[in-house]
Amino acid sequence: MAKITLDNLAHSYLANPTSEDDYALKELNHVWNDGEAYALLGASGCGKSTLLNIISGLLKPSRGRILFNDQDVTDAATAERNIAQVFQFPVVYDTMTVRDNLAFPLRNRGRDEAYVAERVQEIARMIGMEAELDRKARGLTADAKQKISLGRGMVRKEVNALLFDEPLTVIDPHMKWELRTQLKSLHHEFGHTMIYVTHDQTEALTFADKVVVMYDGRVVQIGTPQELFETPAHTFVGYFIGSPGMNVIPATIEGNVANVNGSRVPLSQAFGKLDGKVEIGVRPEYATLSASEGLPVKVRRVEDVGRHKIIRAEFFGNDINIIADEGAAIGADMNRVVFDPAHINVYANDWRVEGEAA
Ligand code: ADP
Ligand code: MG
Repeated sequence: MAKITLDNLAHSYLANPTSEDDYALKELNHVWNDGEAYALLGASGCGKSTLLNIISGLLKPSRGRILFNDQDVTDAATAERNIAQVFQFPVVYDTMTVRDNLAFPLRNRGRDEAYVAERVQEIARMIGMEAELDRKARGLTADAKQKISLGRGMVRKEVNALLFDEPLTVIDPHMKWELRTQLKSLHHEFGHTMIYVTHDQTEALTFADKVVVMYDGRVVQIGTPQELFETPAHTFVGYFIGSPGMNVIPATIEGNVANVNGSRVPLSQAFGKLDGKVEIGVRPEYATLSASEGLPVKVRRVEDVGRHKIIRAEFFGNDINIIADEGAAIGADMNRVVFDPAHINVYANDWRVEGEAA
């Protein structure tokens, strides 16, 4: 197992990159702690697979270094890095049985057959394929083949890291939950360094100790699920995470007051002069509909989603979302919204600004 350090890493698929836009991965410095489980979360095309393939050695970065513990592996081949990687689509040997597919990484490293048999049985149980061990992989469903790929990824205990690139895409929904739980327990048992790529926030938040959020070739925040929820470092994190995401509202700031379209919104912190595009971010959970105080809104629609209600409203010509309790009555006279000052974040040019005690 290893601590993985990315040192001034950047990657462009072009031979002669000139501007920052030419980089699929912008400059990145980051340490993946030994034994921690990370989710790498971001929209399609933001650079997640590029980063993973650089860590595993499938791709050589245009710039920078990769260290495993303190050893520079930038030029080391994939096999030397001793990593298990599972891809979005199954990689199995069709002519081999499920058993031989699962055993392959162990035999490849010369493990004795008694150990192989024992370990294959354990893994087959985890992926729910004990009954199919003697079948050929050919003819199995994509779903089953992907389970074999996952099993192959998990079969070796002594890898430096386990990398998963959207591995549950082709798995049916109830099995997804099951496999994710298995991956988590595998992590608790063996303490591998794990990086799990996904574009699904629920998957990321339930899997990982820490979530690394990428946007447009950049890591924009690394934090616990709670940190991503309470203090999104970038407006993208605010609206990508949460359901619905954070409301981002243009404002000007003076000390501990935000001015939104001429109305005063009290803040719990004070800010100096901010340049560029200034906005406040308020999660729907921290906005409350009121009949008596706050800023004017016009309720368009109320969605009952079980645990709570989502109120879709218009706010100075823009959309705003408010979350209310399941049992809350939404009266026709409720045409104002109040924001909880302790949970308003302030952004300048999309990056969160920390204020001072007001
Ligand atoms: P993600 O895994 O987050 O969906 P990728 O890392 O696959 O994103 O892609 C990041 C960017 O790099 C995208 O703009 C994609 O089009 C580009 N890209 C990915 N692979 C290649 C490649 N082999 N050649 C050229 N461009 C690529
Ligand atoms: Mg990808």
